[in-house]
Amino acid sequence: MKIICIGRNYRDHARELNNEIPEEPVIFMKPDSALLRNNEPFYIPDFSNDLHYECELIVRINRLGKNIETRFAHRYFDELGLGIDFTARDLQNQLKAKGLPWEKAKGFDRSAVISSEFIPVEDLSDRESIKFQLKKNGEVVQQGDTANMLFSIEELIGEISKFFTLKIGDLIYTGTPAGVGPVAIGDRLEGFLEDKKMFDFEIK
Ligand code: ZN
Repeated sequence: MKIICIGRNYRDHARELNNEIPEEPVIFMKPDSALLRNNEPFYIPDFSNDLHYECELIVRINRLGKNIETRFAHRYFDELGLGIDFTARDLQNQLKAKGLPWEKAKGFDRSAVISSEFIPVEDLSDRESIKFQLKKNGEVVQQGDTANMLFSIEELIGEISKFFTLKIGDLIYTGTPAGVGPVAIGDRLEGFLEDKKMFDFEIK
C-alpha cells in the first residue's frame, strides 16, 4: 500500500504559502509507516518547531490500474475518507530552499492521519462539491470544497497512474484548502466530511 499526496491543489492555499499555481499536479508520497489511525494522539516530533496541520479528503483505490483515462477514473474508487497531512513546515522550507526532496518534512512517522471510517461516494448528495472542515479546539480553521480543486479527483487519478500503478488500498491525499496552521501540545483536532465526524484526537 502506498500513500500518494497532492500539493497545491487549492488556489487559495497555494497563495497563502506564496507558491505558484501549478500547471500539473504536485505529487509526493509518504511511507505506510506514516499512518496514524483510530484517533490516536499525535506527538509533535522534536525535529520541528513549526508543525502544521493540513486537512485533506482521502481517496481509497479499489481497483488495479495504470494509465487510467480521466473519464474512467471514477471506476477506481467508491469511498472517501478524511485525514491530515502533518507537515514540519520549518524543515520543509529548509529543504525547498535547497531544492531537496520533502520526505523528511512530510513522510515522518504518524504524519498521515486517516479516518477509521470511509463514506461511500454514492451516499454523497453532490459528487462535484464535496465539503469538509477541520476544527481546532472547537473553532473552524479549514473549510474545503472539492469544487475548488485545481485538479479533480479523476484528473489526479489519471495523472498519478501515468507514473505509478495504482493498487487496491492505495490512498490519495488530495491536497489542502487554505487555513493551514501550527499545532501545539494540548490542541484538539476534529475533522468533518459533509456532516459526519471523521476523526477527533489530541496533540501531545
Ligand atoms: Zn498536504
